[in-house]
Amino acid sequence: MEKNKKERIISRIEEAKKEFPTHKEILDFYKKVFLFQEEIKGNDFPSLEIKKDIIDDKIKKGLPILSGKDTPNVDLSPVSPFFHRLLDLLKDENQLFKEQVPILKEKINQNKEVLDHLFKALINGNNEIIDKRAKDFEINKEILYFLLTTFMKPYLEKITEATIEMIDENSWLRGYCPVCGHDPMFSELFGEEKRRYLFCSFCGARYHVMRIFCPFCENSEQKTVHYLMIEGDERYYIDVCDKCKRYLKGVNRKHFQTDFFPQVEFIVTLHLNLLAEKEGYKPASFSFLGI
Ligand SMILES: [Zn+2]
Ligand SMILES: [Zn+2]
Repeated sequence: MEKNKKERIISRIEEAKKEFPTHKEILDFYKKVFLFQEEIKGNDFPSLEIKKDIIDDKIKKGLPILSGKDTPNVDLSPVSPFFHRLLDLLKDENQLFKEQVPILKEKINQNKEVLDHLFKALINGNNEIIDKRAKDFEINKEILYFLLTTFMKPYLEKITEATIEMIDENSWLRGYCPVCGHDPMFSELFGEEKRRYLFCSFCGARYHVMRIFCPFCENSEQKTVHYLMIEGDERYYIDVCDKCKRYLKGVNRKHFQTDFFPQVEFIVTLHLNLLAEKEGYKPASFSFLGI
């Protein structure tokens, strides 16, 4: 019988643990996170229907689909109970979670509306609201962002899956995500012609961009946009930009024979972060927790 997505993610992580034993701990942590997200995706999320003409208009103007006031508001309260499952799953993972999760649980129980506000703030990119809550709760900001983004990701992925096919991939070609506007987390060279795709760090959208192009500062100069090859390993590469000094890791699918899940490969290639950073490049900023 063919493996389902959850089983395929487990296989890829177990295989990677053998190849990179130093990443075992973090891969085990993220295995829990990814499997939780896959499970959550099976639930009925409130749907968000966006009309094709609104999508076309936004894409033409370079605006992400979820930006602006014409995006309908969704009631996320039905999904809130699942958030407690995430907290229970991670509460004993390390000292920081052991300290922070009970505080967060208590605050949520004291005010039932707070979670809904935080979810909406995250989707709308209102980081000030989240920062303020973290301060009021006296809880670690990174942990709060990590938990919120981890939880919201399956929901956003569902929205993305429903909308991305309505966008002609040659009509965007920008560095930020056409669905939610966040920066990419990983890149892919696809097929014989090495067509380049980026994966959004927030909603998981896969979108096409030019080969010589920095998604962070939109630089397309051949002289300053290039990539670092990994010695002895043709599967991975690192896109770098000498203008903004940022980097983005990627997979060359031609040499990558295993199942490909960008979020998994991002963790599998943690050793490449050091390589890029040693060369003077900075990572993109998004909610990644390197426990
Ligand atoms: Zn996105
Ligand atoms: Zn750049």
